[in-house]
Amino acid sequence: MPLNGAQLPLHILFVFLDGIGLGEKNQETNPLIKFDLPHFNILAGNQPWSDSFRPVDSESHVFTSIDATLGIPGLPQSGTGQATLFTGTNCAETAGKHFGPYPHSKTKPIIAESSIFQQVNQLQLDHPEPAAFANAYPPQFFEAAKARNRWTVTTLSCIEAEIKIRTLDDLKVNKALTAEITRKAWRTRLSIPVDPITEQTAANHLHQISASHPFTLYEYYLTDKAGHSQSFPKAHRVLSALDALFGELLRVIDIEQTLLLITSDHGNIEDLSVKTHTFNRVPLIAYGKGAHLFREARSLTDVTPSIISALATANKSVRK
Ligand SMILES: [Zn+2]
Repeated sequence: MPLNGAQLPLHILFVFLDGIGLGEKNQETNPLIKFDLPHFNILAGNQPWSDSFRPVDSESHVFTSIDATLGIPGLPQSGTGQATLFTGTNCAETAGKHFGPYPHSKTKPIIAESSIFQQVNQLQLDHPEPAAFANAYPPQFFEAAKARNRWTVTTLSCIEAEIKIRTLDDLKVNKALTAEITRKAWRTRLSIPVDPITEQTAANHLHQISASHPFTLYEYYLTDKAGHSQSFPKAHRVLSALDALFGELLRVIDIEQTLLLITSDHGNIEDLSVKTHTFNRVPLIAYGKGAHLFREARSLTDVTPSIISALATANKSVRK
């Protein structure tokens, strides 16, 4: 029996956070310990995000840590870390080093052929648009990226897999989120005439996008930026915004139908005593339907294969 898109049994909403690891339980260095983040704590099974966490491992909730160093010396970087996370191939090994923030030339064919978007497409789910990238990009981004032919891992993945990169037009009809959630920076820094929204409203927009697609990715990079700044006030702003987004997502998503997945490419913001990325393991949260499929994940390489098997399994069980 053909599967109607609206009846798809599983929606995966992947919120990717750049530069957030599990660090020491130390208020002096770790803003995730210093600040009150109630929804971060819920996602971790009622505990703060730290390297001394108690693992959560149930059918519908997994909180664990995964390795971001990938067996390669040096500090993890976004280009190779994200390429690994979003393909399932160890791209630091392919490049011979950690490299970033943009994709390493040797990894571009891997991104082109086997990004998460490409792999979701290859599942041939009976849906007109199985995979979505929820971020909107301003006109300035396209001008700069085209001029230098320099794309991020996620935008390059979109181009190669023919996934729509959302724009101001999508944002105006609430079918996209800005990189900083509330649209304020589009207005104040880019002079684009959009009205600010709350994190709660943005969470509802993200939920709507997710409910319309089997797989949705949203990328948030200000965690990495705040980590490099070594500023507690900046970290507080960024983490509070995310906490509000998470709180509303937890309220609105139906965990019988949706899996909320949260992870990162490398550590950074969890240790404001250093300006650089860290060697720390990164959190992996799977919350909702199919969460148990992520309980064996040990490194960045394990995330995409688990997403694909979750979508394939859920789909097959309905087709029978
Ligand atoms: Zn960084």
